[in-house]
Amino acid sequence: MALDDYRRKRDFTRSPEPAGDQPARKKAGAPLFFCVQKHLASHLHYDLRLEWNGVLLSWAVPKGPSIDSRDKRLAMHVEDHPIEYGTFEGVIPEGYGAGIVLLWDVGTWEPEGDVDAAFRKGDLKFRLNGYKLKGSWVLVKTRGFGPSSGLGQAGNSWLLIKHKDDWSGPIDIAEFAPLSVKTPNADFAEILTGGVPEVWAHNPPAKTGDTGKLFQTIIERALTMKAPAKDPMAKRPKARRR
Ligand code: MN
Repeated sequence: MALDDYRRKRDFTRSPEPAGDQPARKKAGAPLFFCVQKHLASHLHYDLRLEWNGVLLSWAVPKGPSIDSRDKRLAMHVEDHPIEYGTFEGVIPEGYGAGIVLLWDVGTWEPEGDVDAAFRKGDLKFRLNGYKLKGSWVLVKTRGFGPSSGLGQAGNSWLLIKHKDDWSGPIDIAEFAPLSVKTPNADFAEILTGGVPEVWAHNPPAKTGDTGKLFQTIIERALTMKAPAKDPMAKRPKARRR
């Protein structure tokens, strides 16, 4: 079964992620779903997911998608995810993928050609129609990095490239549009306040390096955002600057 890997890696009594046991019902000819989830785990990455044959084909993109057609972004092919995962946003407190998931973009996608053949060949062309990502793209399989690269298993590496069109340009889209498309104005800290930020106060999913620092900042911000509720004086509206 396509979702066996997905389920084997997770303990759904401890993770809020969907178990993927809802049958995928879909009208023939209905548009195909895509999403990108920004996932702060042991490392920050972006998960690109394309609905196909009742599951979400998935790639982890360490630097995130780029709309600059000169960029080639490494995209590690990972296990299929259930369709319900596509709108998931929240906190995975422990275990596989422990961290914060932010729904960064959603929309529909259209294959340019035969998907199964293109996937086998390692050259998948498609169009995206999201809030942030649009137009024509390609995922091209590379000859792979060694298992020691730390970026995943050899043979799973692809490159995500934006084709030059009306929707490409020299803009860092991840910087320009960093927030959630599900929760208004939410970045990781706001999403963490919806969970229990204390959960990682002493044991965050990453402790060292840039990711460790990022977790520390986010946990502190989330704790600060939650704190005023305990202090009635802090509920007064802020004085407006003139
Ligand atoms: Mn991920």
